[in-house]
Amino acid sequence: MATIDERLVPGPVPGDLGVYVHFPWCRHLCPYCDFPVAVARGEPPHDAYAAAILAELAERVDAVADRRLVSIYFGGGTPSLWRPDRLAAVVDAVTARFAARAPRLEITIEANPADCTPPLLAAWRAAGIDRVSIGVQSLDPRELVALGRDHRMGDGAAAIAAARAAGFASISADLILGVPGGTSPIELPPHVATIAASGVDHLSVYELTIEERTMFGKRARAGELVPLDEDTLASLYEATHHALAGHGFEHYEISSYARPGQRAIHNSLYWRGAEFLGVGTGAASFLRDPGGGGRRVTNVRSAPKYLAARGDERVAEVLTSDAAELADDLLWLGFRTSDGVAAGALADRPDLVEWLVRSDLATLVGDRVQPTLRGFLYADQVATRAVAR
Ligand code: SF4
Repeated sequence: MATIDERLVPGPVPGDLGVYVHFPWCRHLCPYCDFPVAVARGEPPHDAYAAAILAELAERVDAVADRRLVSIYFGGGTPSLWRPDRLAAVVDAVTARFAARAPRLEITIEANPADCTPPLLAAWRAAGIDRVSIGVQSLDPRELVALGRDHRMGDGAAAIAAARAAGFASISADLILGVPGGTSPIELPPHVATIAASGVDHLSVYELTIEERTMFGKRARAGELVPLDEDTLASLYEATHHALAGHGFEHYEISSYARPGQRAIHNSLYWRGAEFLGVGTGAASFLRDPGGGGRRVTNVRSAPKYLAARGDERVAEVLTSDAAELADDLLWLGFRTSDGVAAGALADRPDLVEWLVRSDLATLVGDRVQPTLRGFLYADQVATRAVAR
C-alpha cells in the first residue's frame, strides 16, 4: 500500500501548517446557519476575545512552531466585525512564533459585504491580510431575502470592487446554491456571468443544506419550506460548473472554483491531509502523529465557555485516526479535488479504478485518477466505495 504522502500532488507538503482563528459573533443569526456563532448585542467583546485567542496561541503554538507557516485564516461567525487592531495583534502573534514561512503567506478574512468599506479594507491590508472571502451568497434578490441576509443585491459586487481597489492579492466570494423558490437552472448563467465579471479570483459555491437545529430545519419539519429535489440540485450544480468554466474558472474542488494561480492555500490544507491549528470557539485542529496517524481536536462552541476556559477546558472533542484510517480519509478527500488520486496509490484497487472509469465517475489522466463532473456530483457514493474493503 502506498504511503499517505504519495497520494498528494504538489501543494501543501508535510511540515506545512495553517492557523485558523474563529470569531464567533454575527450581527444576527441567519435562518440556515449551523456554525458556532453568537449574536452580538451591541459590540462584541473585541479585547476579551483577542486576549483569549492570544492565550490559546501562547499555550499551543510552541508544539508546532517548527512547521512552515503557509496560511492564517479568520473565519466565523463574522470576523469582519472584529476591531482591526485586534486582528493585527493576532496576525503579529502568529507570525512572530514561526521562523519558517511560505514565500507567500496567505492571510484571509471572511467578510460580510456590508463591512467591506474602504476604511476597514485598508485597515485589514495594514494588518497584513491579503485575501478577503466575501459572503455574497447570491445575486438573486429573492434568494437574499429567503436567506435572511442583511445585504441586498448589488452590495456583493460593490464589496468585490472595493476590495479590488484596496489592493488585495486575492478576492473570493461565497455563493449558496439551491435556495427553495430561488434561481432556476435556466436563470443561473446570467448570475454567474455577473459574478465572474465582478473581478473575483475564487468562488466557493455551497449547496444549501437544511440542518435540523436551524430555523430552516424547523420550517422544513413544519412543511413551510420544501427543499429542492435532487435532480434540480444536480442541474444547478452542472449549470454552475459549465458557466464558470466558460468564464475561465477551474473547478478544482467539489465546491471551489479558481482563476489560474488562485487556488485557496488554506482550504487546500483540509483536503490534502496537511496540518492546521485551529483556535477560538468551535475551531478544529488537525495534527499528524509520528506513527502516521492524526489527531483532530475541536474546541467548545460556546463563546462564554471559551472565554472562561484555560488549557484543556477549551477542548470539546478529540478524535484520533491511525495510519490506515488517515490513508482512507485522504483517498476519499482526493476524489473531491480535480487532482484526484495517484494511480500508484490505487495499484492494489484495480476493481475500484475500473468501477470509477466504467461509471464515468473518474478518468485516467497521466498517472492520476481524476474525478469527472459526474464524480463530483456523486462524491458520496465514490467515498463510500473508495473506503469499502
Ligand atoms: S453571517 Fe454566516 S456565520 Fe453568521 S449567522 Fe449568517 S451564515 Fe452564520
